[in-house]
Amino acid sequence: MGATLEIRDLTLRFGGVTALDRLRLSLAPGTVLGLAGPNGSGKSSLINVLTGHYRGEGSILLDSEQIDHLAAPERVRLGMTRTFQAPRTYRRMSVLENLDAACHAFRPLLRNRSVRRCETKEMHAQLERFGLGHLAHALPDQLTPVEQRLLELARAHVTGARLLLLDEPAAGTTEAEAHHLRQVMAEHVLPGRTAILIEHRLDFLRALCSELVVLQAGRMLAQGAPDDVFAKAEVRETLMGEPVHA
Ligand code: ADP
Ligand code: MG
Repeated sequence: MGATLEIRDLTLRFGGVTALDRLRLSLAPGTVLGLAGPNGSGKSSLINVLTGHYRGEGSILLDSEQIDHLAAPERVRLGMTRTFQAPRTYRRMSVLENLDAACHAFRPLLRNRSVRRCETKEMHAQLERFGLGHLAHALPDQLTPVEQRLLELARAHVTGARLLLLDEPAAGTTEAEAHHLRQVMAEHVLPGRTAILIEHRLDFLRALCSELVVLQAGRMLAQGAPDDVFAKAEVRETLMGEPVHA
C-alpha cells in the first residue's frame, strides 16, 4: 500500500540560490501529495533530490531506511520512480518496446519478487488500459503530446514502484486531455501507491491529492487538506494572484 517517505531539513543550494530551504515532510503510505507553487519555487528540485539526481543536505527516509547517501539506481531498487516535466522516452523504440524497457529496467531490481516478471501479453494489456493499444508499434515522436504523457505514466506504472514522483504530468495538454489524464491516474496509476504530484491546475490537485503543499522560494508556504490550503489568503495570492486583503 505505497511507501512511507520522510524528509527532514532538506536544503539544496545552487551557488547563491537556495532552491530548497530546510524542508520537512512526512508521507504516510498511500498519500498522494500535491505540490504547487510559482515557477522557481523548488518543486522540480525536490523531486531531483529525492531521486538522487541532485545532492542536498538533510535526510530522506524511504520506508524508514535512510537513502540520502544512495546513488539514483539504488533508490530505484528500493521502489521509487519518476516522470519528467518534459516527457523522456526512447525515440528509436516503439511504444511497446518503451514500456517493455521500463519494466525490464526496473522490476528485476525491486525487492518485491511478486512484480518482477514482464510478460509481453501483460505489456499489451497495460497499453490498452492507458488507451495506447492501437499505438503499440508507433514511435514516440508519432504520438500527440497527451499520448506521450500517457506513455510516460504507463512506463512509471509498469515499473511496480511504490513511490511515484510525477513532475507536471499534464503539462502541455488541453483541459479535456488533462481531464482524461486525471481519470487514468485515479484509476490505474495512483491506487496502492504513495505519490508526489506537481501540477499547476488546481482542479487536478483537488481531485487527486489527499494532501497539498505550497512552496514559495524553497519554503513551505502552506500544508494540509487541499480545500483548506486553497482557502488561505497567502496561498490564493501566490497561486492565483489575488490580493491578500480582497
Ligand atoms: P520549479 O520546479 O518550482 O519551477 P525548480 O526546482 O526548477 O523550480 O527551481 C528552483 C530554483 O532552483 C530556481 O531558482 C532555479 O533557477 C534553481 N535551479 C533549479 N535547477 C538548477 C540547476 N540545475 N542549476 C542552477 N539552478 C537551478
Ligand atoms: Mg519544475
